[in-house]
Amino acid sequence: MIALQSYVQGRWVTGTGEPKSLHDPATEAVLGTVCPQGIDHAGALAWARDVGGPALRELGFQRRGEILKSLSAKLHEHRDELIEISGRNGGNTRGDAKFDLDGASGTLAAYGNLAASLPAGNHLPDGDGVQLGRTPRFWGQHILTSRPGVALHINAFNFPAWGMGEKMACALLAGVPVIEKAGTASAMLAWRIAQLVVDSGLLPAGAFQFVGGSVSGMLDLLSPMDCVAFTGSSATGALIRGNKNLVARNVRVNIEADSINPAVLGPDVDLGGDTFTQFIANVATDMTQKAGQKCTAVRRIFVPQDLVGEVVEALRERLLATKVGNPADGDVRMGPVASREQLHDVRLGMNQLLTVAEALLGGPQPIQDRGYFVAPTLLRAKDAAADVLHALEVFGPCATVIPYDGSAAAAVLACNRGGGGLVASVYSDDRAFVEAVVLGIAPWHGRVWLGSEKTHGQALGPGAVLPQSVHGGPGRAGGGEELGGLRGLAFYQQRTAIQGDRAVVGRVFGNESAGN
Ligand code: NAP
Repeated sequence: MIALQSYVQGRWVTGTGEPKSLHDPATEAVLGTVCPQGIDHAGALAWARDVGGPALRELGFQRRGEILKSLSAKLHEHRDELIEISGRNGGNTRGDAKFDLDGASGTLAAYGNLAASLPAGNHLPDGDGVQLGRTPRFWGQHILTSRPGVALHINAFNFPAWGMGEKMACALLAGVPVIEKAGTASAMLAWRIAQLVVDSGLLPAGAFQFVGGSVSGMLDLLSPMDCVAFTGSSATGALIRGNKNLVARNVRVNIEADSINPAVLGPDVDLGGDTFTQFIANVATDMTQKAGQKCTAVRRIFVPQDLVGEVVEALRERLLATKVGNPADGDVRMGPVASREQLHDVRLGMNQLLTVAEALLGGPQPIQDRGYFVAPTLLRAKDAAADVLHALEVFGPCATVIPYDGSAAAAVLACNRGGGGLVASVYSDDRAFVEAVVLGIAPWHGRVWLGSEKTHGQALGPGAVLPQSVHGGPGRAGGGEELGGLRGLAFYQQRTAIQGDRAVVGRVFGNESAGN
């Protein structure tokens, strides 16, 4: 039995308090324990701020980028071992595990590569300089500098590798030390990755710490140069945002929460064409990949009224072909949800949706004697206007077909009823429809993914979060923003307007050469 440890102040320590068990969700076997208390929060923060931060900033962008690339290579080197852990303590199929792990190593590498285009040192000009006085002599330039604090990263259970990797990549490249807290249910994978990071010796002392237990007490100790990047449920997000110390000291907080992601099928789509094939494939993938435990997974499927029959048939066929079982069996395509609590929540949520929808496939009933399994579940709304369809995230393999009248205006209204989302996908080859829908939903969504005949087979589906594009969304999605290339560093940097003699401001802090 494994007892998970935390890595703080340069050593591995075992927590105290009532141990929590870590399970194999396919068999319910106990694999290990983690003790949530007993970590010296103040000591960990001081170690990061006083030791890790200065050492990281001493390296400059270029060297930090090299380290990120080496960390990416390290994860890749251990890919098979990590895939196995992800299956055991996460219920992930090999494909699910690769999605998480390659997301982590890919994002670390992407930020490593980005560093090559950055200047030496630690600060970046932000935009062009601007004349502020009567003549160009008095000049202004915005710059971004590394904040001398610590980044506390609180990660959700569903992406133990990618969630940690993407947050680390941005903070470390910006020159800010990290404390990574794993979601407990699947913490074994994050713990093993933490071991690899520490053993690699690539990062300076204090730049990386890992907590397997609780960090709620740490929130009370953060100061203005620190920040919290949280990923998880809306409820926990609201709790963190409302923490008295964080509010009183204006500590930066980024919340990545849940989202009732819509997929819209346009009325023009030909049932035999590539756009329709792409739509069905992406929706089915989102419903079953990681057993639907993706913050970006489609939950609401908006279909023109007269196409509902064909869509339901095509989705049923795909979902029925998805073999559910223990991911240790190679031909299994969907594993269990991650924990007993998840199973309970998923069943509860399905029952709530079933008050306004009918089950076309699956449902909340048990499908195996052991393990946290739930069937791929396709619902059809009986009442498209019912609030619960647009407000309840069932974090499992479940989505609802909701008919609409096929107009762009109705699609916009329906999507935006989600109250703010991470990603919306729109499938259509009618440019006027696409334009009207995109412009109507963009303010309510962090990302809009367009499916069409031209893009079929060209890209990963809307569920994939790519480092080049922003991730996050307004309203119930948390109001946060991560990634998006260099934009992802801004959360860890301070933007300052420098005003003065152009010869100094433009040349030292801006992009101007000595000729100006
Ligand atoms: P959760 O229960 O809200 O937990 C998220 C993280 O917060 C975990 O590490 C958890 O630790 C920690 N936590 C819980 N209470 C806390 C407190 N009082 N103070 C500080 N930390 C606390 O969410 P989850 O069940 O892990 O994740 C599923 C949810 O995350 C879904 O709703 C999903 O949509 C959302 N999600 C969003 C994104 C996104 O990018 N927007 C990505 C992935 C998932 P313990 O595990 O130890 O309780």
